[in-house]
Formats: sequence, C-alpha cells, structure tokens
Amino acid sequence: MGAFNLLINGRLVPGDMEMPILNPATEEVLSSCPRASKRQLDQAVAAAKAAYPGWAATPIEHRRAAVVKMADIIEANVGELARLLTSEQGKPLPDATAEVMGMAAFFRYLGSLDLPMRVIEDSGERRVEAFRRPLGVIGAIIPWNYPLLILSFKLPSALIAGNTLVVKPAPTTPLSTLKFAELVADVLEPGVLNVIADANDLGDAMTHHPDIRKISFTGSTATGKKVMASAAETLTRITLELGGNDPGIVLDDVDPKKIAPGVFEGAFQNSGQVCLAIKRLYVHESVYDQVCDELVTLANNAVVDDGSKQGTKLGPLQNKMQYEKVKGFLDDAHKNGNVIAGGAAMDRPGYFIQPTIVRDIKEGSRLVDEEQFGPVLPVIKYTDMEDVIRRANGTTYGLGASVWSSDPKRAHDIATRIESGTVWINKHLDMAPHIPFGGAKQSGMGVEFAEEGLAEFTQLQIINAAV
Ligand code: NAD
Repeated sequence: MGAFNLLINGRLVPGDMEMPILNPATEEVLSSCPRASKRQLDQAVAAAKAAYPGWAATPIEHRRAAVVKMADIIEANVGELARLLTSEQGKPLPDATAEVMGMAAFFRYLGSLDLPMRVIEDSGERRVEAFRRPLGVIGAIIPWNYPLLILSFKLPSALIAGNTLVVKPAPTTPLSTLKFAELVADVLEPGVLNVIADANDLGDAMTHHPDIRKISFTGSTATGKKVMASAAETLTRITLELGGNDPGIVLDDVDPKKIAPGVFEGAFQNSGQVCLAIKRLYVHESVYDQVCDELVTLANNAVVDDGSKQGTKLGPLQNKMQYEKVKGFLDDAHKNGNVIAGGAAMDRPGYFIQPTIVRDIKEGSRLVDEEQFGPVLPVIKYTDMEDVIRRANGTTYGLGASVWSSDPKRAHDIATRIESGTVWINKHLDMAPHIPFGGAKQSGMGVEFAEEGLAEFTQLQIINAAV
C-alpha cells in the first residue's frame, strides 16, 4: 500500500501530523494516514476560495465533462479502490466493488444534468428570469459507513453547479477518499477540489469557517444539530443527511418465505451500518412466527468474516466505538426481548458481531427506540393496522420505511401515511442518482442528488426587468 497524501491547492502534500488507520477485521494498523492541521484546513479553504471565480465562470459543459472524466477514472480503478475500501471499512469485497461502481454511476448521471435559466414571465409588463448561481466554497463532511458512495452524493453536484470544495472523510475511513483524490487530482484546476483528513477535530472548524458558504453534512443526528447551530452564526447554507430508525411493516397477507430475503438484506446490508437500514421490523401476528423463523435461518446461514475473504456476507463493524455501542444494544436485547439468532460479539480479533434477531420486544427498549446501526434486528408483533402506523411514526426520525404486502394497493395506502423521506413497497434500500433522497423530522434537512439535490448547491437569482 503506497503512501497517502492530502490534496490541497492541486498538490498532493503530507499532513502536518500522521495517524494510524486500522483494519476493522484484524484491528491491525493498515496504513499511516496524513492528518491535517487547522493551518492546512485554512490552506485548503483559501485554495478553494481562490479557485472559485475561475471555476464558476467555466462553462457548465466543461464542468460536466470533468465530472464524467472522474467517472471514467473511478471505473478504471475499481479494483484498487474497492480493495482499499474493504480493508479500511470492513465490508465484503463484492459490496465494496458495488459501492465504487455506484459512485461512478452517480458521477456519470449527475454529470449529465444541466442548470438552464428559466423564464418565469415574459410579458408586456416585465421579463423575469431565474438563474441558478453557485454558492462558493462547499465543505463536504462524510461518515464512515459508505465513504465513497456518500462522497458521490455531494461532490459531482457541487462541482457541476460551479462551486469549489473542501472534502473531509471520517477519521476512521479516509484512505479510499485520499486515493480517489490522488487519481483525479489532474482533472481540475488547482484548488477546485481539496481533500483533507482529520482525527475528528476539524469538522467543527469547517462549520465555523467564515469562507465556507455551505456545509453538506452526512452523519449522526447529534452531530447534525451541532452543524446547524454553528451554521446559524453566519447563515451558512446546510444540507443535513442524518440518522434513521426505519420501520419495516409486514402485513398479514405476505408469503414469509418470499419476503424474508429482502427484509434481511434491508436490515443487515453493510452489517446494519446503513442510515436507511430496516431498524425496527413490525410483523402482523398472523405471520409473526413464520417471519421470525425465516429470518433466523438467514441470520444463521450468513457468513460473517473478513470482507476480503471470498464468501463473506457480513464484515465487521467499522470501528471500536460502534462495536462497543452495538454490544450495549445486545445487552438491551437480552434484557427486553427473546434473542433467537446470534446475540453476541464473536470471540476473535476484529469488531465482529453475530447477526442477531430479537423477538418479543417492543417500544420502551433501547433496541427499538434508538438507532442501533449494527446487525441486530428487533422484530415487533402488532395486530392492528392503525396501531402499527402510529408506532412506526412514533419516533423523532423519518428517513426511510418499507411496507411489505401481496396487495400493492393496500401497501400504497399505508405508504402515504408514513412520515419519512422515502417509503419503499416490497423492497428496502433501492437508491438511484435520479431519485432524490432526504430525511423527514430529525433525519435531516434538504435532499441530495437528482435535480433537486443539484439545486441545493445553488443560489436562486431572479432578474426582473422592466420592458
Ligand atoms: P458522526 O456524526 O459521528 O460523524 C460524521 C462526520 O462528522 C465525520 O466526518 C466526523 O469527523 C464529523 N464531525 C464530528 N464532529 C463534528 C462537528 N462538531 N461538526 C462537524 N462535523 C463533525 O457520524 P458517524 O458515526 O460517522 O456516522 C454514522 C451516522 O451517520 C449514523 O447516525 C447514520 O444513520 C448516519 N448516516 C446518515 C446518512 C444519511 O444519508 N442520512 C448516511 C450515512 C450515515
């Protein structure tokens, strides 16, 4: 594994400090990583600010072409990026490969979008035009669960709109982002894209930085609230993609065998470390036992191992803090429910937790009320439809949800009553770059990607002329 560098003002530079990055499957040091100082953050912001007028004035066709070229580069380096992602994040190599290919697809699609001027009125009285202007320097702050995919939710749209960027990956998963920066360093003019890495100490400085005009943040609701508070000082624009506690609602008319694999995937993908994972599964009493049994079979058959090993279905948790947190949820599960699969951390190096299914549990337990962000699924029994809708909505979160039924009309009626940014029917976790994504309630503010997400990286300007 070669050396890693920060990207500041078009140059690959070492950090003022260094920090170790661990492989979560072994807890061994994977690589040393440059760690930026506050001075280097300021350099990166200054470079982005200096590059902004030139990039904003570059025709949008050129900006789009640069984003598409990055998609080509990502695809040409999929193997290297995916291996790096697996070794620092922990996910199985096929999933890491899918993440890198997904990243390329987001760059490619968003690179096809335009921001045309819109004529609102052209009359004898006035001519009114609406333009989408760039904002300036964008600070992009990324979590550790999907380091590259979430980068692709922000970076292409920011660039196409004419903004420049300072990107900060999460402290435990910076390497694949730094490698990406190295690969695309020559595509853009110096300063248009800057990538730094920190030890969880520069995010706050970014949100307070007077020269950053917008923070595009993905992470926990707790940190999102801090971002919003500091943005208030200067009315810095924000998009917040935060935590979730997605309900899956299984109706009485399902075939348990048929739906179980989709439900399992929706809850356990990336070892449950997905903002949009099913985190509470509500199952009608008439199919409760069968659905529990199917999920147990799937959990017991899922191979949990180092993500670089062939056949691994679930990798480790990404970091020690999350591992300890999920162990706390296991304690709660044993206290408040009936653990029917898994239920323990694995006795081996690495942050491995057995895929766990918990039945006979309900609201009032931590596992149901809070975001577990790990491979532990509570399965909750219900009898009445109105009651389950109320319980599904009885949370401060509102990111995603799913309804599972053999009657599409019935499922659709229920979907319209769920308070969340996305509701899926007979699936969970289906995302695409042309479908906007965002959270309701405390799961976020604003949306990402698609035309709506692109617009969030712009300032609407109206030119209203007398005729
Ligand atoms: P986190 O909030 O701890 O960290 C996210 C990022 O914020 C990191 O880069 C971190 O260094 C940075 N940060 C830390 N303190 C900061 C501060 N005061 N100001 C600004 N930035 C700061 O989140 P995490 O533990 O890395 O990620 C897991 C959480 O992210 C879960 O809650 C999950 O649901 C959520 N998430 C949401 C989405 C979404 O799109 N809605 C996607 C993925 C993850």
